[in-house]
Amino acid sequence: MVLEYKLLIDGESKDSSTGETFDDINPATLENLATVQVAGKEDVDRAVESAEEGLRVWSEVPAPRRAEVLFRAARILQERKEDLAVLMTEEMGKVLPETRGDVQEAIDITNYAAGEGRRMFGETTTSELKDKFCMTMLRPIGVVGMITPWNFPIAIPSWKIMPALIAGNAIVFKPSSDTPLLAIKLVEILMEAGLPPGVVNIVPGPGGSVGKAIVQHPRIKAISFTGSLETGKWIMGECAKTIKRVSLELGGKNPVIVMDDADLELALEGVLWGAFGTTGQRCTATSRLILHEKIKDEFISRLLAKTKSLRVGNGLLPETDIGPVINKAQLEKIERYVRIGKEEGATLLCGGNAIDPGLPGYFFEPTIFTDVTPDMRIAQEEIFGPVLSIIMVSGLEEAIEVANNTRYGLSSAIYTESIGNAFRAIKKIEAGITYVNAPTIGAEVHLPFGGVKGTGNGFREAGTEAIKEFTEVKAVYVDYSGRLQKAQIDTE
Ligand code: NAP
Repeated sequence: MVLEYKLLIDGESKDSSTGETFDDINPATLENLATVQVAGKEDVDRAVESAEEGLRVWSEVPAPRRAEVLFRAARILQERKEDLAVLMTEEMGKVLPETRGDVQEAIDITNYAAGEGRRMFGETTTSELKDKFCMTMLRPIGVVGMITPWNFPIAIPSWKIMPALIAGNAIVFKPSSDTPLLAIKLVEILMEAGLPPGVVNIVPGPGGSVGKAIVQHPRIKAISFTGSLETGKWIMGECAKTIKRVSLELGGKNPVIVMDDADLELALEGVLWGAFGTTGQRCTATSRLILHEKIKDEFISRLLAKTKSLRVGNGLLPETDIGPVINKAQLEKIERYVRIGKEEGATLLCGGNAIDPGLPGYFFEPTIFTDVTPDMRIAQEEIFGPVLSIIMVSGLEEAIEVANNTRYGLSSAIYTESIGNAFRAIKKIEAGITYVNAPTIGAEVHLPFGGVKGTGNGFREAGTEAIKEFTEVKAVYVDYSGRLQKAQIDTE
């Protein structure tokens, strides 16, 4: 029997006002894992009320005590890591080693954020006046709306939820309709760990209705969004109307530069993992290989051989390298871009087709285009699938120019044995992340994560930056002189 999941409001499973449900489909087998109730606008109102009540309680809990809840949650996540990983592979398709990594990332950020509970540092400084003390302190923002995609169904919600919680906020959370179960499991674990009712509320359903109601809600003080550039632009515009803080983590068109002095075997492994890991469905996926022309013949022939040996199939099987893409619309989008690439004059080196590995789901061959020029659409637009475009260059300056020639700026990488090349690339590539001799994927939770240009609006997740995303800074002046002192006026 298929289980039905409801909304999570005020610490309880609640029926939605719409009476509608949607199916949670396994993209490999097309089995229905669960049905989930669709929240309506009035459910979002209920969730906000519940969060406001949760906020009153939670914001009064000292941060080191909040941390205890998070540490317990991290332990429970650890105990259930394998079950959650299997469920994740069933829900969104990526292979088991990667879904284990996704849960591990959630464990890591939960422990990390908990540690920040004893580091909610402000600053102290001198006053320009006598007998006066100055400091800053961090305060929670209030009720925060969170909207997340499906490709990291536990890690991305955790990057947002854990720092927001340690800072004392309450949350209304809309997960992707492709991965509601993992979101529900995560919040259930937080509640089992002792999170008071109402502090995190889940309202599942489509972005166009539920997401929109969250973004436009007058009593939600901030939005933390991860998803596509198009949705992010719309959200930013809406948030302007109510002067909401909005942090955006959007798409990428991430380049790997391989120089003629690179360790070729290392670079090959990195490009393969960066381009085809998570079936190319990472915001940090390597979608452009910027290759020095001197090594093109050898590099491309070795890359082709390795790509052809990748096995596409059910992510639960140990022999599978690449799982399915998330849904039919995404499969069709990839097919469309393959057609565009051919029409633009790029050469299809391998792949390019949907395949049937003996399952009815949405599988696509790892695909490589060569003869790609920097302005082609396949070199500019995010495809979000296992498609790599190879662009040839004759030197580092040109490579960096090509790397910077997109609207995105999330991750980037250079393979070179020259320290000069490495540091020139670090300095000049327009991106939030640059790897040297490592692929564009593989962020660690204690470093800031995010991008420039069309990838984001200046915020960073993870690391200590995450606390800034979810706090307001207050300046405090304590005058113990016993008389009225006037800043800028009492200058004698
Ligand atoms: P998406 O279509 O923008 O959806 C992301 C989330 O926004 C989903 O929960 C979606 O709901 C919701 N949504 C859609 N329209 C909305 C609206 N008008 N108002 C409010 N919410 C709305 O992106 P996606 O296809 O799920 O995810 C892939 C994208 O995410 C890629 O561009 C990828 O690069 C990006 N991404 C970025 C990062 C990063 O950290 N920079 C990390 C991972 C992914 P429903 O889908 O449920 O309708």
